[in-house]
Amino acid sequence: MNNLYLGSHVNLSGPDYYLGTVKTALSLNENCFMFYTGAPQNTIRKPTNQLKIDEGRKLIKESGLDESKIVIHAPYIINLGNTVNLKTRELAISFLKEELKRVNDFHVKTLVLHPGSHVDAGVEVGLKAVIDGLNEVLDHDDSDVRIALETMAGKGSELGKNFNELKTIIDGVHKKDRIGVCLDTCHINDAGYEVRDVDRVIDEFDKIIGLNKLLVIHINDSINGKGAHKDRHANIGVGLIGFNTLVNYVHHPKLDGIPKILETPYINEKPPYKKEIEMLRNKKFDPNWAYSF
Ligand code: FE
Ligand code: FE
Ligand code: ZN
Repeated sequence: MNNLYLGSHVNLSGPDYYLGTVKTALSLNENCFMFYTGAPQNTIRKPTNQLKIDEGRKLIKESGLDESKIVIHAPYIINLGNTVNLKTRELAISFLKEELKRVNDFHVKTLVLHPGSHVDAGVEVGLKAVIDGLNEVLDHDDSDVRIALETMAGKGSELGKNFNELKTIIDGVHKKDRIGVCLDTCHINDAGYEVRDVDRVIDEFDKIIGLNKLLVIHINDSINGKGAHKDRHANIGVGLIGFNTLVNYVHHPKLDGIPKILETPYINEKPPYKKEIEMLRNKKFDPNWAYSF
């Protein structure tokens, strides 16, 4: 397979911002990567003209990276599904409108978004709020940035915990070509899917949503077992999903060309991605790797 795009979450931070993000990804031997446009847990954002985007893009071109495989993740605190606190939902909508412009400023084409949580309003009301929110945002945006709704673990009142809920959202969005899905291996495991049965997961995804809608895959192991609804990521091969299953996602021919992003925890405050990516690429697990830090 020659269309393997494998990378990780990488920080965007000063003084080099995007240039630094690209440098970090390259130093970890990644050929795609994902980043937040600021802190993931808040909505404070620097103007994009201060983020060394041109310098970063120059390095992307020089090093032969495919810019279309780079991904941005929206902050996880914004919640389009909240009909209980309307201020939260309004903030989510106004932030997303601005975020799409930032994503476009980076010349990135894909924005991963957690669909939201219904709080106490129920799944149906929550899904409708997400649909209306997405339409409010996308109907007024002319870019070609696509929003990839992430499959969620189903902790609390999270929406998008199965393919049917995501399909319901997609069906309600007016601009179909602007919406897709990000599949997270840890999250579907925690949501109750038999994640080891890779072919069945892919078939079910294809039947319900359509593989053409699968824009990003998050490759994470899980600390918890099937159906735990916890969302605690483990390092590659040391969780309950296991190395071989994750290799099967990374190298599955039907998932060829889709950017695959690791969001595994740091070890001793250092990113483990270089080694994790090497093991996944070579399909060879090193049982001692976690101790080499
Ligand atoms: Fe996420
Ligand atoms: Fe994820
Ligand atoms: Zn997660």
